[in-house]
Amino acid sequence: MIPKTMQAVVCHGIGDYRLERVATPSPGPGDILVKVEACGVCAGDVKAYQGAPMFWGGGIQEAYVETPVIPGHEFVGTAVALGEGAVELHGIQVGDRVVSEQIVPCGQCRFCQRGQYWMCQVHNIYGFQQNVNGGMAEYMLFPARGRHHKVSPDIPLDAAAMIEPLACSIHAINRAQIELGDTVVIAGAGPLGLGMVAVAKMKNPGCVIALDLRDDRLELAKQFGADLIMNPDQDDVVTAVLQQTDGYGCDVYIEATGDPSGVTQGLQMIRKLGRFVEFSVFTDPTTVDWSIIGDRKELDIYGAHLSPYTYPLAIEYAQTGRVPIGQAVTHTFPLAEFAAAFQKAKERDHTVKVLLVP
Ligand SMILES: [Zn+2]
Ligand SMILES: [Zn+2]
Repeated sequence: MIPKTMQAVVCHGIGDYRLERVATPSPGPGDILVKVEACGVCAGDVKAYQGAPMFWGGGIQEAYVETPVIPGHEFVGTAVALGEGAVELHGIQVGDRVVSEQIVPCGQCRFCQRGQYWMCQVHNIYGFQQNVNGGMAEYMLFPARGRHHKVSPDIPLDAAAMIEPLACSIHAINRAQIELGDTVVIAGAGPLGLGMVAVAKMKNPGCVIALDLRDDRLELAKQFGADLIMNPDQDDVVTAVLQQTDGYGCDVYIEATGDPSGVTQGLQMIRKLGRFVEFSVFTDPTTVDWSIIGDRKELDIYGAHLSPYTYPLAIEYAQTGRVPIGQAVTHTFPLAEFAAAFQKAKERDHTVKVLLVP
């Protein structure tokens, strides 16, 4: 029996998130009702909670979050009810363990029409717009136009809940076009950076260097396969990377810190003709000398957003353990303690990924 009401975290505005009893959604044609097993707290969720302009508008940006909305885009659950035609549409049955890609494409815009659904102009992401409520609830709807995937019940919960971030890490590494022997610097050993370290190693580079301000995260980065770890608070990392590379600089620099200094330090330590991948979401704008990009180094700069076509691989790596992504989960809280979970996710002390479990 599916209860008529459920517990959910509801975002009413900046810093105003409440645990509420709301109606359990019911699946329309093509929709799937999912009982949520776990939902990760993303750095983006914390930034939205704190009022970052990219979510709430300000300057030239429009507000992105619609309220009230149930947050959460990193979830795994079990299909418990299907709308008409959902089996045919998605190949999913009641009882299947499932995830859904964080973006729910409109299917109509220029980008969706060309298969570039991750850049959909409408850009509905679970947990930010009202028609795509997220996973910080007992139940959620996977809508008809979403992109859903079955996952094995054998994947441990911590790893299953990390499929979304891992899929994003895979895309960032694909963008980097790592070649045999490359020296790859990954700045930021959070949940995303850790996944990037492990996936970068699969490309057989010469050396993967992980940078982070926290030694506990750097230790994890080693377990994920980093050849070298460096803490910019303790070492002159630009000089160290130049020394590693006969004075030339790294071939590839991947920025996953979310801090403007992650960009400036990267432009200093990357070699001429290098590849710079920008993954982070920043609270504040970054100022850099753009002449480094053209005049001095002729760099290739690649953006990386979301996880186009990478969920199947992320699911495989989570299942086989080829990427030990579950190790990034450091804390789990019940839904009712979401405020403590957000606080924990914000802290810089021995926290990597925080999960909410309804
Ligand atoms: Zn996320
Ligand atoms: Zn679209």
